[in-house]
Formats: sequence, structure tokens, C-alpha cells
Amino acid sequence: MKWIKLPIFVLIIIGFTSCDESKLHVNPIPDKPAPITIIVQPFNDFSKEETDYVANELKEIYHDVKINEPIELPEQALNKNKTRYRADSLIKYLSRQTEVGFKTIGLTKSDISVPKGNNPDWGVFGLGYRPGNSCIASLYRLKGKNKLEKLFKVAIHELGHTEGLPHCTDKNCLMRSAEGKDRFDELHSFCAHCKSVLIDAGWTLK
Ligand SMILES: [Zn+2]
Ligand SMILES: [Zn+2]
Repeated sequence: MKWIKLPIFVLIIIGFTSCDESKLHVNPIPDKPAPITIIVQPFNDFSKEETDYVANELKEIYHDVKINEPIELPEQALNKNKTRYRADSLIKYLSRQTEVGFKTIGLTKSDISVPKGNNPDWGVFGLGYRPGNSCIASLYRLKGKNKLEKLFKVAIHELGHTEGLPHCTDKNCLMRSAEGKDRFDELHSFCAHCKSVLIDAGWTLK
């Protein structure tokens, strides 16, 4: 009986091999980037309502957004005086918990900072890897009735960095550098160039 089984096995192998080869020949489309899921990751100082607000705004312009349960702010990310969290430590922390195929935007009400010049703790609205898989936005320095809308603008700005976008010189573009100023009302949308980069990455921007 053994000699009958062997040719069938060989035929199956040949069958699969030729199938793979023919696929290679008829598939000249260049590799598209793998689809990414955006994870909205609130820290435990952030309310469910505020998290939902940012997530729902993101869902308007990105097809795959999920919300994680809140997590503790890592104590090791606190600065020397324990007044601010180091934004670079926080995005590193978020990056470690972000699996392949995902990008994480962290949300916090705490003050976050980066080293700038002689100041080791320059307060910022947000920070993101460029490119990378994680970023963070903070509500702490945002003021006014529409501060959650401003936070959403910070969040998509930082997500834009994770897609590789640098700061933009267009004064109405969401990728314009804040330079520490609250001028979010001047930022309406992404400029044509920044938009095209994000659309290539799967964003559905109008
Ligand atoms: Zn920026
Ligand atoms: Zn731009």
C-alpha cells in the first residue's frame, strides 16, 4: 500500500507549489501598507465621556478605532519634582504595549513635558514618534469651552507624526507646530500635502 500513498503526496506538493508560483506571476500590484487599528488609550485621570468624545471624532476620519480600558500613569515617567510626566517616557511606555498592526494614542489630564534648551521639563500639549506606533495628548494646558475639540486636534496632529509627517508651514494645517501657543482655532484641516500622506496610509479625510 505504501507505494500508492507516496505519489498522491507528491502530487499535492506539486499542486500547491505551482499554485503559489502562478499567484506570484499574476500579482504585479506593489505592496500596500498593512491596515492599522488606532487604539485610544485613556490614562486613569481621563473620564469615559472625554475618551468617547476623542474616539468618536477619530472614527469620523479613520475606519478602525478601538478604545482600551484606562490604565495607570506609570510612576517612573514622573519628573524629578513629581509635577509633570515626561512625554517621551509615556510614549515609550505606550509603544511597548502596542502590538504590530496597531497605533496607540494616549490621553491624559496630567501635565506632560519634554526637555527643551535649558528646561528639562517644558510643558507640551502632546508628543508622538515620527514615525512610530504611539503618541500622547494632554488636556492639562488646553483652555476654553472647546478644549476637548482642541485635544482632538492635538491627537490627530500626534497621530500624523506617527505616520511620518513633519511639522507643516501651512498656517491652517493641523500639522503646524503649536510652539507652545493655543492657536487651535486657526487649524481647520490638513493641507493638501499632509492629507495625501494620510490618505495613502488609509485615512478617510474629506
Ligand atoms: Zn508636532
Ligand atoms: Zn500640512
